[in-house]
Amino acid sequence: MKIQSDHASLLIKLLTLNFLLVFSTSQDFDFFYFVQQWPGSYCDTKQSCCYPITGKPASDFGIHGLWPNRNDGSYPSNCDSNNPFDASKISDLKSEMQLEWPTLSCPSNDGLTFWSHEWDKHGTCSESVLDQHDYFATTLSLKSQINLLHALESAGIEPNGEKYSLRSIKSAIKGASGLTPWIQCNNDSSGNSQLYQIYLCVNSSASGFIECPVFPNGHCDSSIEFPSF
Ligand code: AMP
Repeated sequence: MKIQSDHASLLIKLLTLNFLLVFSTSQDFDFFYFVQQWPGSYCDTKQSCCYPITGKPASDFGIHGLWPNRNDGSYPSNCDSNNPFDASKISDLKSEMQLEWPTLSCPSNDGLTFWSHEWDKHGTCSESVLDQHDYFATTLSLKSQINLLHALESAGIEPNGEKYSLRSIKSAIKGASGLTPWIQCNNDSSGNSQLYQIYLCVNSSASGFIECPVFPNGHCDSSIEFPSF
């Protein structure tokens, strides 16, 4: 009898362990949104902005994040409080992050707060695919593969405070990258609709761009401002 109950308890322990392993490593998302932000449109709003302690960022799109998302439009967030952001894991990436993933929140800081927020909220939900170092390194590499500002400028769409049709913005990016972007607008302090963020999609192993399975909700006017920065 004793031997049987020992066996049963071992079996229960193994099943529990298996259950925990499956659930802690399974991926609960279908693709990523790779989101880039126009700094001029972050800064000219009512909330305004603060430049990072390293100085004013370049007049270029900056990374906002790489966000696991599901095909039904929902997304997981804050998936693993046991794996918090650890700056020492990305010390080799810091200088590139400061250039390509600049913080604009106030008060002025070195970016760690923004990156930590992105890792804790989004990165922990894809840790089965990308560990902390890979998460940031992969996102930097995605940015280097498609130059959004160049794609727009080549089509005569420049950050000069002029208005451009949403259609022409989408078609410039589609023409340069082969990908259909999703454009997010916000309002400047006078209420004008402007180009804020550009979403592209990446497959669930983060190895390449794909057409977006689903787009977020949101509205831009048919003609939007592209402010200077
Ligand atoms: P998320 O939670 O990833 O959707 O990002 C939204 C949060 O990121 C908000 O708290 C924003 O204020 C913040 N945020 C967006 N862009 C920046 C930026 N360039 N620098 C610092 N914080 C930012």
